[in-house]
Amino acid sequence: MYELEPFMAELERKNPAQPEFIQAAREVLESVIDVVNDNPVYEKNRILERITEPDRTFLFRVDWEDDQGNIQVNRGYRVQFNNALGPYKGGLRFHSSVTLGGLKFLGFEQMFKNSLTTLPMGGGKGGSDFNPRGKSDSEILRFCRSFMTELQKYIGPDTDVPAGDIGVGAREIGFLYGQYKRIQGENTGVLTGKGRNFGGSLIRPEATGFGTMYFADEMLKAHNDTIKGKTISISGFGNVAWGAVMKASQLGAKVVTISGPDGYIYDENGIGTQEKWDFMTYLRASNNDIVEPYAKKFGAKFIAGKKPWEVSVDMAFPCAIQNELSLEDAKTLVANGVRYIVETSNMGCQAEAVTYFQERKIPFGPGKAANAGGVAVSGLEMSQNAMHLSWTAEEVDQRLHDIMINIHTSCVSEGTEENGYINYVKGANIAGFKKIADAMVQMGY
Ligand code: GLU
Repeated sequence: MYELEPFMAELERKNPAQPEFIQAAREVLESVIDVVNDNPVYEKNRILERITEPDRTFLFRVDWEDDQGNIQVNRGYRVQFNNALGPYKGGLRFHSSVTLGGLKFLGFEQMFKNSLTTLPMGGGKGGSDFNPRGKSDSEILRFCRSFMTELQKYIGPDTDVPAGDIGVGAREIGFLYGQYKRIQGENTGVLTGKGRNFGGSLIRPEATGFGTMYFADEMLKAHNDTIKGKTISISGFGNVAWGAVMKASQLGAKVVTISGPDGYIYDENGIGTQEKWDFMTYLRASNNDIVEPYAKKFGAKFIAGKKPWEVSVDMAFPCAIQNELSLEDAKTLVANGVRYIVETSNMGCQAEAVTYFQERKIPFGPGKAANAGGVAVSGLEMSQNAMHLSWTAEEVDQRLHDIMINIHTSCVSEGTEENGYINYVKGANIAGFKKIADAMVQMGY
């Protein structure tokens, strides 16, 4: 029999100073421990010990030259967490907050998320503490070349397939892929999120945001409700927020906030026009990491230094970064009448905030289910690359929609409690875990 607290104490002892990894592991283990103890084959195969230890981790130095001719030094990482279901798959994050512990949490989450998509993908994550803010295009190019010069030793289309994440969008993927191709001399699906002209999939840029709205739509249907007419707050202003804002508007909801490190925008008219969506893309490409210019351009309010969770809405979608929504924020949202929370950033809500929502029986969709659309379309990009053809936008979108509906169904079937409350966290964790654990058992140690 596994016991949660002694297991967690040992995990913390082995992974000191990695609080986000411990937080992510605790959440999953709390959900799955009964399933594990009911199936002795999992303990016999030491599944919990094995699933909480990455297969391997690469840590390397990245030297690059800035525009003034100075040599800069950063750290690069790739965590290959688990490949029981397929090649390691997961994004690269370029952000000043990146640490090994942070990437281990992301790789761990990725493993379960990828399992939920039902596509053949294992879990991994990588990145660097390189901060793209204020960097010129040439600096980003030189950094990406140097980073890939080392990373290319560890990845491949059938072994490990990185993609984007915070700070890594189409521009960075293009630079990284260019360097991979220069060194390896091959055109392969070794990265996803590529440009359209060189193997990228239609709908990949929109996929995470579209996927979270498809998932939310299913959540509302399961509660005899509809997304049409709902008022929504979104945090962040990057690729994920952009896709989410567009799909929410198409489904008839009104998004009233986006945010950046400088504060948040409150647009009472709704962020619902192509011009506004294009402006979000422009803000992201400008590398300044601020949203304030939106307020000036569209006559909206800018609230400096605050998060959007103080606005009264029906639904809240954290779309920025881990732990961005605290217990205090949760209390404010609930006091202001929020009815659904759809975590779209990876582990966007602090553990106490999640508990607070769940105790009040507010439906809470966890990131690993709600944001799986991004990696799902990455998986579809891998399929298209392997077949050397490309599907239409309609075909990819339809497959994405079906995958999100299936993920919702899996959460409901594994997570519905006796009182009828759908515990999406538990459902997603159990459904994701079982496939990986069974594959590990079947393949032996
Ligand atoms: N970074 C995204 C995620 O957190 C996408 C990963 C991918 O497409 O491989 O799932």
